[in-house]
Amino acid sequence: MKQPEFMILIDNQAYTKLRHFIELSNHDEISFLGLIDEIKDGDQIQALLVSDIYLLDQTVTPIETTLANKAVADLMIELASTSIDVSRLKCWIHSHADMKVFWSVTDDDCCSTLANGSYSVSIVTNSRGDILSRIDVYQPCHMTLDKVATRIHYPLSSEISELYTTEFQSKVKRSKPLPRSKDRNKAALTLDDQNELEQALDQGYINIYEYQELAGFSVFDDVCGGA
Ligand SMILES: [Zn+2]
Repeated sequence: MKQPEFMILIDNQAYTKLRHFIELSNHDEISFLGLIDEIKDGDQIQALLVSDIYLLDQTVTPIETTLANKAVADLMIELASTSIDVSRLKCWIHSHADMKVFWSVTDDDCCSTLANGSYSVSIVTNSRGDILSRIDVYQPCHMTLDKVATRIHYPLSSEISELYTTEFQSKVKRSKPLPRSKDRNKAALTLDDQNELEQALDQGYINIYEYQELAGFSVFDDVCGGA
């Protein structure tokens, strides 16, 4: 049985917050920390969900961001005071502003300093919304899994999901595409298809060139005897 693709998910509200802060940061880099929830099937982790992000006190420039002293410690105290397990603080996100997404030497160093005895998730994004994600595992040795598939997580309640499914089914009809034959095989079209196309042509819904494209042959063949 095919295993579902392991991926990193970003909660849509956390993502909205992230994009807003990045827009405000304009042409400067900016960084965040995030909470990770493990989505499991039995004992197996199927996805790592960035469930919330936190903006820290920092100084930014177009090429770097420096966290204020004690910024991380202050966040951990704040989380602990609201009964959030601080060991979930495993995610580091930063924006490269107008530059491409890649791991700089400084970024690699930072991922090494995040070593926490288990793993960390790092995400680099930019003002265009490109995303590059990696997972660094620190035990039994430091290994990096780069370019991990990353999606925005849009959870739907079963009621809303059912509502949208009903709307979809009532409005969207599936149909087979009309065959397009490059070898001018008239037999590729059924008689009904040909009649429908001819009717569309007669009534002006399609022009002669569209007719030829859809029918897969030239109407001039019959006149000129074909080439
Ligand atoms: Zn970077």
